[in-house]
Amino acid sequence: MNFPPREVVDRVKKEFPEGTRVELIHMDDPYREMPKGLRGTVKKVDDTGTLMMAWDNGSSLGVVYGEDSVKKLDSVKVTCYGETKVRDSRKEADEFYFQAICGSEGSEQERYTKIYAELLNGNTECSDEYPDICPRCGKEYKGHPALSRKDNKTYICPDCGTLEALEAVGASEETKADIMKAIHGE
Ligand SMILES: [Zn+2]
Repeated sequence: MNFPPREVVDRVKKEFPEGTRVELIHMDDPYREMPKGLRGTVKKVDDTGTLMMAWDNGSSLGVVYGEDSVKKLDSVKVTCYGETKVRDSRKEADEFYFQAICGSEGSEQERYTKIYAELLNGNTECSDEYPDICPRCGKEYKGHPALSRKDNKTYICPDCGTLEALEAVGASEETKADIMKAIHGE
């Protein structure tokens, strides 16, 4: 067998990083279990340019450079409600989240809208999660953010949301500190 030159192998490695979703066009397959159109995920590219694979049918047959052929799918990674899924078609993902926006309201619709906006923006990873650094206190936080009362568009951490609410009713520094202690069980 002739191995491809190093620059070709490097190009293949660059084109198919780990996690790339592909669809099979043709494979020299003596067992006839690898139909055209089968999809799979690239695990690694070895030094002969062969794609090490995890096919969706459970097979791990490699894609040999110069003999077998695959095409890259226009896939996109979407995180929604804490679950991350790879969707093989950006177009289908666009349509799915557009329908989801139309069929939902309130905070659910907000999540889908955020994902849809990122899809349209061409992001390869889209998520309904907000950055977890609070712009008000600069601390990292977990959980669903609060919407700042000050401008009604900045997302802040739940603690800052509570503090703003307390400030809005004129709570003293002491009261705010006591309530924060109570929330955090100190
Ligand atoms: Zn904060």
